[in-house]
Amino acid sequence: MTTRSETRTTLDHLLTEIEHRNPAQPEFHQAAHEVLETLAPVIAARPEYAEPGLVERLVEPERQVLFRVPWQDDQGRVRVNRGFRVEFNSALGPYKGGLRFHPSVNLGVIKFLGFEQIFKNALTGLGIGGGKGGSDFDPHGRSDAEVMRFCQSFMTELYRHIGEHTDVPAGDIGVGGREIGYLFGQYRRITNRWEAGVLTGKGRGWGGSLIRPEATGYGNVLFAAAMLRERGEDLEGQTAVVSGSGNVAIYTIEKLTALGANAITCSDSSGYVVDEKGIDLDLLKQIKEVERGRVDAYAERRGSSARFVPGGRVWEVPADLALPSATQNELDENDAAALIRNGVKAVSEGANMPTTPEAVHLLQQAGVAFGPGKAANAGGVAVSALEMAQNHARTAWTAERVEEELASIMTSIHTTCHETAERYDAPGDYVTGANIAGFERVADAMLAQGVI
Ligand code: NDP
Repeated sequence: MTTRSETRTTLDHLLTEIEHRNPAQPEFHQAAHEVLETLAPVIAARPEYAEPGLVERLVEPERQVLFRVPWQDDQGRVRVNRGFRVEFNSALGPYKGGLRFHPSVNLGVIKFLGFEQIFKNALTGLGIGGGKGGSDFDPHGRSDAEVMRFCQSFMTELYRHIGEHTDVPAGDIGVGGREIGYLFGQYRRITNRWEAGVLTGKGRGWGGSLIRPEATGYGNVLFAAAMLRERGEDLEGQTAVVSGSGNVAIYTIEKLTALGANAITCSDSSGYVVDEKGIDLDLLKQIKEVERGRVDAYAERRGSSARFVPGGRVWEVPADLALPSATQNELDENDAAALIRNGVKAVSEGANMPTTPEAVHLLQQAGVAFGPGKAANAGGVAVSALEMAQNHARTAWTAERVEEELASIMTSIHTTCHETAERYDAPGDYVTGANIAGFERVADAMLAQGVI
């Protein structure tokens, strides 16, 4: 039997090796540290997990695909982007995870997202493995026709690697309903198959699930509510700061408002808006989803309750709750200190890894309830798996049914994380709870399936 400290030393060696074997991938190193640093108690307690090669296999993707994506802009100029799909782990089901189109995308970013996805998907309790993909293509300022040509070129390579039983992509930053439509159209054309379950986040008239667009934001709010309930509080009357103004942020604000909280901020890469009356969602949706504009337009059109702060971060605005919903590492130590100073009670991650490790540490030390993305934002992928189930059965569920399933999955993820943290002497530590619970499920499946 190895002790916790011996196990920790072994994991530290492995982390050093991961850094050597995967140079210049800081986001992947960060994600690996964040998970492996919490696993010593479970590996020490269950000798089967100490089997040589188990964790080493877990941190190595099963397959990594990199490809050229040539396309023509509206002026007829040929552009070349890079495409990625990292198929990380399929022990629990087909690879599942979104596609991100953003200029910051590189292999390390996709690997961090794919690695997180393994544990997130395991926590949903559904049969989905972990994967992620995307491109360094920037859809901002591109015409619909350019986005369509890009998506068609991207799919012309990707199609050979995916399938409803193999690998099922969805949206992420820069990939919403429009992009999924173009991607699906090209897949159908190349394969000559109506294979609805190959992509999720489809339009509701052609195989999409109701509540899929809302699911990540709604689920995160339900997770935050569950953390507050543990402390004898609820969402009613709480003020909340939300970052981002895309899919996750919009539906986070919608659910907060529906449950009686007051969401007072949103942001994009140009800065943030604070609206003391609460964000007017119809206006925000019009600007972001219809006009594809910037958040300063919101402040201009909203009137005196709102102001735009160029280049600022929402975390300087006093609030009871913080729900980062934009991108990785958007909430650092200084931001955490400001939130703590202003009396924040809970931070729940809608984005993937938005909080730096130093900030997580500070928040936890200060007794703030902290919900890590792999648990708090799992509602999106969970409803994607429900979309796959509906596609398989060639049926469509009502919005009420999907929302009930989502609520029950989020409650179950919260309970699992909470109970697992207690079982491993870390009460209230949802990071440890989520990592260990996700790890147990994947590791058990990997052990049962042999060395592959
Ligand atoms: P969207 O593209 O719809 O929105 C992203 C938002 O974040 C935009 O407001 C964007 O502003 C802002 N943003 C992105 N990158 C940056 C950056 N580098 N600096 C400042 N702001 C930035 O994406 P989603 O809402 O789908 O995704 C948001 C987060 O949630 C991501 O971390 C994603 O991985 C995570 N997530 C998404 C899920 C989903 O179902 N969509 C599921 C689970 C997690 P701008 O337009 O100016 O770039």
